[in-house]
Amino acid sequence: MRESADLVGRALAEVGRHVRPGVTTAELDAIAEDFLRSYGGVPAFKGYKVGKVIFPNTLCISVNDVVVHGIPDGYRLQEGDLISVDCGVQLDGYFGDSAYTFAVGETSEENVRLCRVTYEALYKGIEKAVVGNRLGDISNAVQTHCEGYGYGVVRDLVGHGIGRSLHEDPQVPNYGQRGKGKKLKDGLAICIEPMINRGTADVETDDDGWTVRAADGSPSAHYEHMVVCRRGAAEILTTFEYIEAVVEAPYRREVLHEATGTHG
Ligand code: MG
Ligand code: MG
Repeated sequence: MRESADLVGRALAEVGRHVRPGVTTAELDAIAEDFLRSYGGVPAFKGYKVGKVIFPNTLCISVNDVVVHGIPDGYRLQEGDLISVDCGVQLDGYFGDSAYTFAVGETSEENVRLCRVTYEALYKGIEKAVVGNRLGDISNAVQTHCEGYGYGVVRDLVGHGIGRSLHEDPQVPNYGQRGKGKKLKDGLAICIEPMINRGTADVETDDDGWTVRAADGSPSAHYEHMVVCRRGAAEILTTFEYIEAVVEAPYRREVLHEATGTHG
């Protein structure tokens, strides 16, 4: 699982290197697919089925008001866009899953703040992913941080367990009550993934059956790490280090270094 997690981090960095105005989301998708396959990985989202709808691509690329599950296409990125890129891989029978929101060129201060707060919320959740706590402690930490800024915490989509399957029990909501829910056991591997909107928490799904948008059209951000619950401090399996070595995002580094010994 460490190897799968490492590979998605490197794939996201390869995508990040190519994020600029004029690039299409389909081009980014092809870059990620080639990258994963060159290391023996199989894209985990491509062919993923929910009911009768099949996801057609390697990446979910969610632009601006799209929260998650955006389908890569001919859209050309524009200066100021926010794009959330979610990448999943299967490598030697184990899954990796991580997401990162990039700004295309310069974006608005409001969007930068949304990204910073969502990113901070991810690490606040991770701080709670320790043996002795319960799932609700993670959920509540994410929720209270984001709602403190007036942001909408999406309810319809949640984090999840991960391992030999992409999505395993338990569900890991980004909202909940402290001290409630399943007890965290040593070795439990979960994806913590705040999906946070600048406006309403309500979402709608497009006719394609995948694209989930903020109902009021407000921008959305999404960061995701795979973590293993441990005694004392969670072990973060995925890393943003590769991404942040190639993407200029000074505020993200500050947040990272403030996080208590849990570098992503
Ligand atoms: Mg993901
Ligand atoms: Mg996930």
